[in-house]
Amino acid sequence: MQELDLVIHNSAGLHARPARVLVDLAKQFKSTVHIRAGNKRVSAKSMIAILTLGVGCGQAVQIDINGEDEALAAEALATAVREGLGEGPETHDSVNSALAAARNGNGTHNGHSHAESSIAVADVVPVIGPIRAEPIKAGANIQAIAGAPGIAVGPILRYERARIEINHTFSGVDNELQHLQAALSTAQQQLVALREQVLLRADASEAAIFDVHRDLLADPALLEAVHGAIQAGQAAAVAWQTVINQQAEAIAQLDDPLLAERASDLRDVGERVLRLLAGAEAASLDEHWAKTKQPMIVVAYDLTPSETAAFDPAKVLGFCTAVGGPNAHTAILARALGLPAVISAGPSVLELATGTEVILDGTAGTLLISPAAEAITAAKTAQQREREHKALAMSSAKLPATTVDGQHIEVVANIGGLNEAQQATTLGADGVGLLRTEFLFLERTQAPTEDEQFATYREIAQAMGAAPVIVRTLDIGGDKPLPYLALPTEENPFLGERGIRLCLAHPELLQTQVRAILRAASFGRLRIMFPMIADAGELRAAKAEIERIRAELQLPPIEIGIMIEVPSAALMADLLANEVDFFSIGTNDLTQYTLAMDRTHPTLAAQADGLHPAVLRLIARTVEAAHAAGKWVGVCGELGADPQAVPILVGLGVDELSVSVPAIPTVKAQIRALNFAQCQTSARRALACATAAEVRQGAFDQ
Ligand code: PEP
Ligand code: MG
Repeated sequence: MQELDLVIHNSAGLHARPARVLVDLAKQFKSTVHIRAGNKRVSAKSMIAILTLGVGCGQAVQIDINGEDEALAAEALATAVREGLGEGPETHDSVNSALAAARNGNGTHNGHSHAESSIAVADVVPVIGPIRAEPIKAGANIQAIAGAPGIAVGPILRYERARIEINHTFSGVDNELQHLQAALSTAQQQLVALREQVLLRADASEAAIFDVHRDLLADPALLEAVHGAIQAGQAAAVAWQTVINQQAEAIAQLDDPLLAERASDLRDVGERVLRLLAGAEAASLDEHWAKTKQPMIVVAYDLTPSETAAFDPAKVLGFCTAVGGPNAHTAILARALGLPAVISAGPSVLELATGTEVILDGTAGTLLISPAAEAITAAKTAQQREREHKALAMSSAKLPATTVDGQHIEVVANIGGLNEAQQATTLGADGVGLLRTEFLFLERTQAPTEDEQFATYREIAQAMGAAPVIVRTLDIGGDKPLPYLALPTEENPFLGERGIRLCLAHPELLQTQVRAILRAASFGRLRIMFPMIADAGELRAAKAEIERIRAELQLPPIEIGIMIEVPSAALMADLLANEVDFFSIGTNDLTQYTLAMDRTHPTLAAQADGLHPAVLRLIARTVEAAHAAGKWVGVCGELGADPQAVPILVGLGVDELSVSVPAIPTVKAQIRALNFAQCQTSARRALACATAAEVRQGAFDQ
């Protein structure tokens, strides 16, 4: 057995990201790996267990490793912890004092101890407590947060989860374990089916929520704790609910918004299994539907991703929740499924009686209660217009996106895999403007081999036929560590080693990927693109790698482009243009770096608007420089599908818009209705504005 005395010096302790790195690393070894903090010892192969330790910054932990590869594991784990598990170190003082405390066996534990917490059975299903809110009057228009766009008009259904009745009778260890196993495997099957169902209506990243749920169900610490409770004489359902509650509660208390989301995932999946164990029906709208046969707008305290994914679009027009955030899985799913949603409307909406008529506007984030007849007529007209618009866009999806005065814009897709490539062709994409290759590298313990990558790129190239596909080289690092890479610790991940910087620092990654892309290129029309280029030096180094590999493999040249997403690249676009075949502007990153606002910041992200005139000026400069050198420019950030941005981007002279797959038909339809000369006027006016709000208020829509 190997034992390590270590100190966690990550500033936020062992929170989700470093815990994930630790778990992924521990899982690579056959040995058992346990981590102890204070008086609690858990498997280091369990994310949930590590999170529930609540290890804070400067806290000592002991890791013990037992098995055939223990020496190797000990070395790797010690190095990874010392290097900050993908994050920056704290001061040495706190490190040393905690280390001393660890050696004396009295490491401080500033997390939450849950050994003694016991959860009452009645608390298992989240129950909404008594709500004290002012009753809402007819005609009130509640301003909440826009969750997913679209208008819904109809009666509400107050949706509440039914309490699950649990059988406490213990029928013997073997029986209870079998009962648990059966429920777990049914839950796994349900999650696979749910994933498939979501894949039909949305794309892979949304469906991946259910992979997270499946991982949670297989978590060794969770299963170990439940098995232990059963062996101690508890019925499977009681053991399961107690452990889920303890672990979800422990994670939620760590006061980290990202972890809070994991806690709700754990509760969601926990309830699924509990229902199976208790033989309880899932909360369903069917009873209400059978009585009314009327599509409804669901109003709930909160909804889980499972509940949202299971809503039948024929029965549910949209939903409104009292709590929740725009970036929670539920809202992301609603957008992907095209279900209008208003979130965080406050507890007063829970006072509304089932059957109350409302108008839900998921674009404005409002809920109008018992509207007057004229408001209903106006909403229905707007809704009808929206539907016609979508239907028209779908029916004409294959037509080219050419403005009324003859300016042609290529509309291509941002994709993350083969599935989306196939959907993109069906929806009329002129090609793929951005293949995010990260999907091939994440959620694994080793980098994919050249042959694995080759097979995927070839399939995508073949799926797109003669249409071009831009393969972006790996854009990872900083906030997205790969556990199998010894990434440097980062104080400020978005300003650290990411994108092309990381690939140049780890040339074997880039070389393998380039070989795979070059080999696959002859199966279609592949182009290559580098992310995060900040200057010509990086570009030249990356191009040199391509040239060397191409000569070695004796393959024909390939078109090479770069993303313009760092302000320095936009400012140097005139010189860079001479060294590439094309530019693609990544407005997501360009906006965050121009405005100095983290694109994932919980309060700033909404202000990080790509229609800020500063960003538009950088885009204008890039387009001018490219065109002067005879090169074309695309936009592949989210801005490219923003209906207010499309005329401005077209007016600025952008040649290609690369958008998410579901947006392709509507963006093409919008372009076909535009007048290029007017777009140019709009663009000029936008460039003269002082703020993003002024640009948006400028009514540049045509
Ligand atoms: C961007 O930054 O705009 C972009 C398209 O790249 P990503 O969102 O993958 O960083
Ligand atoms: Mg980017």
